[in-house]
Amino acid sequence: MNKIVKRVLIGIGIFVGIVAIVVGVFLYKFSSETSKMTPVETGKISEHGYAIKDEFVNMYLIKDSLGYIAIDAGKDLKIIETELQKLNIKPEEVIAVFLTHTDMDHVAGIPLFTNAKLYMARNEEKMLNGEKQKMPGYNNSISRKDYILLDDQQIVQIGKHKINCILTEGHTSGSMCYQVNEKNLFTGDILSLHNGKLGHSVKFFDLDHDMTTKSISKITNIPNVEYILTSHWGISKDYKYAVKDWKE
Ligand SMILES: [Zn+2]
Repeated sequence: MNKIVKRVLIGIGIFVGIVAIVVGVFLYKFSSETSKMTPVETGKISEHGYAIKDEFVNMYLIKDSLGYIAIDAGKDLKIIETELQKLNIKPEEVIAVFLTHTDMDHVAGIPLFTNAKLYMARNEEKMLNGEKQKMPGYNNSISRKDYILLDDQQIVQIGKHKINCILTEGHTSGSMCYQVNEKNLFTGDILSLHNGKLGHSVKFFDLDHDMTTKSISKITNIPNVEYILTSHWGISKDYKYAVKDWKE
């Protein structure tokens, strides 16, 4: 075999080997981190609230007389459809979807919610247009372009429900917490919960872990909050206890 051809083949072999190792390490780390997560089972969680479990992630629904308000949209469209059927909720009844961020485990069910307005933080657009990336060459993507952009501390009223938007960047460029009707705080992926106490986010999944940690401090002193509803670590019904010993 020609020497040059031989060298090229060896080069390709080394490159493929390195890619395979990188992908293997990523998949191993991904499954080991997600296997520790503790989402709640699909079901009613309060007078107007529902959790939907999609493997290692929760999305939530809040019932209003006009329809349902969703916080996030899950990781697998088919699973979301099946879980909604268990609750006797039709996807068309969802009138608004508020994204905590646009990672793939929070947006897959968006096409189901054909009657919903879609909201996300203004800064989150950077994750879609490639200005910010968690992995080189990989942009987040969502199935719609008609989203409504939200700013920090903006208040949106949907029916009887007041949604206060709190920008908590770090996990992604525009991660947003939503304080619904004062007492419910939806935190997305910016923190974890262990034995009812706030914990750090998973560094492996963060765009900027230090910034995420600073963002957690931003939501530890909000008057009137009672419940913390996370995307991967379940729910705390005692906000004061959860935040009490938080240290960056
Ligand atoms: Zn997530």
